Amino acid sequence: MIETGKPVHVVINPRSGYGGQKRLLGELRREIRLAGWEVVEYVTQAVADATRYAKSIVSDAAAVIAWGGDGTVNEVANGLAGTNVPLLAVRAGTENLLAKELSIPKRPIDLVGLLLSGEIMSCDIGMINGLSFHSILGVGFDAEVVRRVSQTRTGHISHLSYFWPIWRTFWEHDFPRLSVRADGENLFEGRGLVFVGNISRYSTGLRICRDARFDDGLLDLVIFECDQQARLLLHATWTLLRRHPLKGNVIYRQAKSIHVESDEPVHCELDGDLGPTTPLDISISPHRIQLIVPSNPTGWPGPIWPWKGAPV
Ligand SMILES: [Mg+2]
Repeated sequence: MIETGKPVHVVINPRSGYGGQKRLLGELRREIRLAGWEVVEYVTQAVADATRYAKSIVSDAAAVIAWGGDGTVNEVANGLAGTNVPLLAVRAGTENLLAKELSIPKRPIDLVGLLLSGEIMSCDIGMINGLSFHSILGVGFDAEVVRRVSQTRTGHISHLSYFWPIWRTFWEHDFPRLSVRADGENLFEGRGLVFVGNISRYSTGLRICRDARFDDGLLDLVIFECDQQARLLLHATWTLLRRHPLKGNVIYRQAKSIHVESDEPVHCELDGDLGPTTPLDISISPHRIQLIVPSNPTGWPGPIWPWKGAPV
């Protein structure tokens, strides 16, 4: 159980999620108060607001709830990194990879149940060119998709908002030539897609970094060698089946530091938002953030990864 005597802060991103959130938020507020905590709410207005706010309340917070998508969670985590204030990532955005990976429930009453009887787990944070990420980053193709979506975004987005950007990127994408080094070893030189993950989930339910764990002090690196659209479809199919690490033109490694370079600057996608361009220096910062998780999670580790432990 989290501390009593200090308030629970709720950081709300009003741009994420859909209708119905206000009712759920009201319910959450009521349930937290019934459980004995004061609630302080903060509504973000601009990028990095959530980080600033989280930093400002570390001495007076029993816990912080990030009410938004992965971008909001990442910002709050950034503000709380290195402190003892636990973070509860909820599923209130378009994509909530971390909350899903942690088996965080949806109903407000169950979320308060986590504040009362969940566990606090010390988790890793990924770092890239001085920025943090908690879930997964992709270099190349999906960064192009996110760039196209963000160009047209005006408010809430749904999975449907990604359809045309993915379609157009699929046909127009010119796979960049990348060179990848992991823990000092030259691993790859060629055209393709690179993913680095702290968790196994990726958008649309794919588990690209299949064996990733958020508390093992390692990043999972996946490189898909790819120079044409047809091969990308093949990669996607094998990834859907979670057999991609077994394929000859896929490199799957775990590492503490990763370096990605390219001739021309290539964007990366960082927890669903557009990230920096190459060259990229990626590393892991072990046990940097305290996360509130269910005591008996249903999703991890184990059975959902049927091939875990199999030779790759
Ligand atoms: Mg890991």
